[in-house]
Amino acid sequence: MSRADEPVVSLDGVKVHFEKEQGLIDSLFGEPDTVGAVDGVSLEIAENDVVALVGESGCGKTTLGKTAIGIQRPTEGSVRYRGQDVWEAKDGEGEIPFEEIRRSLQIIHQDPGSALNPNRTVMRTLTAPLKRRHSEMSPEDRRARVLRMLERVGMEPPEDYAHRYPHQLSGGEQQRIALVRALLMNPDLILADEAVSALDVSLRVEMMDLLLELQEQFDTSFLFISHNLSNARYLAEKSGGRVGIMYLGELVEIGPAEEVLQNPKHPYTKVLRWATADLEPEGEVEEPPVRTIDIPDPVSPPSGCRFHTRCPKVIPPEGTDISQALYNEIMDLRNAVEKRTLRPDEDAPRDAEIARLRDERFDEPLSEPHRERVDRALAAVVDGDWDAAAEALRADYESVCERRSPTLGDERHPTACHLRDEGRRAEPSAADD
Ligand code: SF4
Repeated sequence: MSRADEPVVSLDGVKVHFEKEQGLIDSLFGEPDTVGAVDGVSLEIAENDVVALVGESGCGKTTLGKTAIGIQRPTEGSVRYRGQDVWEAKDGEGEIPFEEIRRSLQIIHQDPGSALNPNRTVMRTLTAPLKRRHSEMSPEDRRARVLRMLERVGMEPPEDYAHRYPHQLSGGEQQRIALVRALLMNPDLILADEAVSALDVSLRVEMMDLLLELQEQFDTSFLFISHNLSNARYLAEKSGGRVGIMYLGELVEIGPAEEVLQNPKHPYTKVLRWATADLEPEGEVEEPPVRTIDIPDPVSPPSGCRFHTRCPKVIPPEGTDISQALYNEIMDLRNAVEKRTLRPDEDAPRDAEIARLRDERFDEPLSEPHRERVDRALAAVVDGDWDAAAEALRADYESVCERRSPTLGDERHPTACHLRDEGRRAEPSAADD
């Protein structure tokens, strides 16, 4: 395959782990805690492609973006630019020099103000990188190119803007300058990290339209990072691109924007859609499609599917006769037992306390055998034996979702969820809705 036929960027099994900052005692006596910001992500970005990555804050999307453009070294896995391993190039190996890779993979940040030198005019800010990369250009040519670019991003008359300082520009204008600075490098890919989040709604749409217009004119690919599904949809849908959903360091669903938004397959994507007012179809559920809003600690993420502690569709053990609603309540009880957040009253009579804790956790009376199992575990809690309680509940109610990590397939719209495992459900059921 020739260089031009290779994907602009391909990530293969990328992991990025950081050591968490520790207190003095921990750092003297303990092993450092590791946060898996990104865990096993594979992704290809082709020429002229648009990929919008969405997820809650702390899900690893920014770290993944920085890894894709070669400013964050992965702990494991590889990052390739047109087939060339980026970090081998950094170490002086391979055909494509690291300098060329860095020029080809640009970034625009959420807060362009902080990325612009307050003491430099727009003209100086924009001619400086041209001077470094194209020393053959004359100062007149550099100035003419900058003025042309300012015009193309709607900053007219360009001579007027060229002599302003960053504080004399609005947020939207600063973002346009950051975009021009990236485009002047003639990049193959621009990472736009929350690039429109800080703008007013009307400016946001204008800026996204501008990104799309320039993407077409300059044949540039975009990796757009956002916590806002609505923005991601706007960009990806208009460009025929893809939306990728990240949860706790993992890519859990990716596909054409319209399919992911109209027909989300992963329960977490449904949560994001529910939380985005203008995307939830009318008449859909009002209750949040999630068991708890608490996000687990990324230092010790849940086993198996990382979403299983919050997922309303978590799969009961095979052969267990139980409704989804009751199973969800039992899984929440298991979480509470494991975290020891139940508050048994030591002075209350034992049986009354077991009944009180049961009533507190369950909306409906429990049928057998669940009542007997739950009471056995609650008795252990009341007796102070939390480990025995957790173990008893685990033995009766462990889900495949906590035992095995679902993997993302390689079809057009893959999702990492056991509900989609081949053969698990021949027909989509109500549980899949
Ligand atoms: S694998 Fe299980 S817990 Fe994870 S999203 Fe699918 S149903 Fe929910």
